[in-house]
Amino acid sequence: MFIMKPQPLTGAKRKDHRSSLVIAIDGPAGAGKSTVARLLAARLGYLYLDTGALYRALAWKVRRAGCDPHDGPAVERLLDRTTIDVRHDLDGGMTVSVDGQDVTSELREPEVSTLASAISVLPAVRDWLLPVQRRIGAQGAVVAEGRDIGTRVFPSADVKFYLEAKTEVRARRRYQELLAAGRGASLAETRDDLQARDLRDETRTHAPLRRAEDAVMIDTSDLEVDAVLDHMLSAIAAKL
Ligand code: C5P
Repeated sequence: MFIMKPQPLTGAKRKDHRSSLVIAIDGPAGAGKSTVARLLAARLGYLYLDTGALYRALAWKVRRAGCDPHDGPAVERLLDRTTIDVRHDLDGGMTVSVDGQDVTSELREPEVSTLASAISVLPAVRDWLLPVQRRIGAQGAVVAEGRDIGTRVFPSADVKFYLEAKTEVRARRRYQELLAAGRGASLAETRDDLQARDLRDETRTHAPLRRAEDAVMIDTSDLEVDAVLDHMLSAIAAKL
């Protein structure tokens, strides 16, 4: 796995705790995790780790292989023949390759979203991705976002956030994102899909989506991105 770390923007030469924090961001789809995680990582000069992209990458492989996403043993066999590489670009983005093929541009397709949600209930999938995620975060200086970051992947994260927003707001955000990407789906379909994914994430037995007890909760429904970011930076400063 090749990981290019951006230089810290803080200008600090010191190698103290502050320059190598692990920051965990969890929450349901459309709560604003990706947007703020990326901006926060840029602000701190940290790596941005989009763990959903890893689930999506495996979903891409499941689709390519024509594998039934609900057939645990078949998906497990597929994992044995899969490699995922993550490259962190200098602009703060993440490029994901599956078996040597760059699949980044296909990861946000609605079909991949649905498949990612389906396979994410499988313990074999979660266990396979656990060391991948931990390896990326091992050095610290990372902002990781997903569904089980503060509870399972990095339970000792230095600062944890749980982002929430009203269902209607989250559905509209996801809908706008799909429109901007030129992908057709109605608002109602987008809302249904989002709610189905939330339900699966919250009710699965293995590492379900839930707020870590020590996570700072932020409802982003009525907040601009900058306001969320300010809130997070204050919470980080307060924890140090
Ligand atoms: O965050 P994103 O929408 O890209 O995630 C795609 C799917 O991957 C989610 O619907 C969720 O089911 C799964 N996921 C997960 N655990 C994570 C990240 C994503 O189960 N840490």
